[in-house]
Amino acid sequence: KRNEMEIVFDAVSCNESFARVAVAAFITHLNPTLEELADIKTAVSEAVTNAIIHGYENLAGYSRHGESIPAYSIVHPGKVRMHCVLDGDMLSIEITDQGKGIEDIKKAMEPLFTTKPELDRSGMGFAFMEAFMDDLEVESTPGKGTRVHMWK
Ligand code: ATP
Ligand code: MG
Repeated sequence: KRNEMEIVFDAVSCNESFARVAVAAFITHLNPTLEELADIKTAVSEAVTNAIIHGYENLAGYSRHGESIPAYSIVHPGKVRMHCVLDGDMLSIEITDQGKGIEDIKKAMEPLFTTKPELDRSGMGFAFMEAFMDDLEVESTPGKGTRVHMWK
């Protein structure tokens, strides 16, 4: 049996937990183990956080280096799309943003690589997605956005 859902939400940090809970709710009827659920929630959280803080560079969230945020970015924060498909017990999750994109995907996916060390990022997001999901594909176009596709 196939089941599909899609949500689009503002790129603000409070939606990290919303996305986590939404995907968990979507798969509860499959009675996933606590471990499977934790893995999926962590992977979604990492991908959504990346869209918010890197894709949109947190325009709608906290200020960087204490700068004040231009007002227009609060009124028009970017959107993040989460698209999930359940096919039997196979789950596909796509997280897409229309943010700044990634110049070098291979490098970005290396464990410990981060472009934001000053924000105390550890560069482990992609490594966690890779470890906690069965498959991971990243597509990105600089200036256009990023799509993270994961399967479990
Ligand atoms: P952590 O996830 O441990 O807090 P991080 O976010 O820097 O640190 P990753 O999640 O592995 O580490 O991402 C590595 C790098 O890839 C980021 O520093 C950023 O430069 C780039 N990146 C990841 N996702 C996106 C995105 N959606 N848009 C633009 N750049 C991204
Ligand atoms: Mg990250």
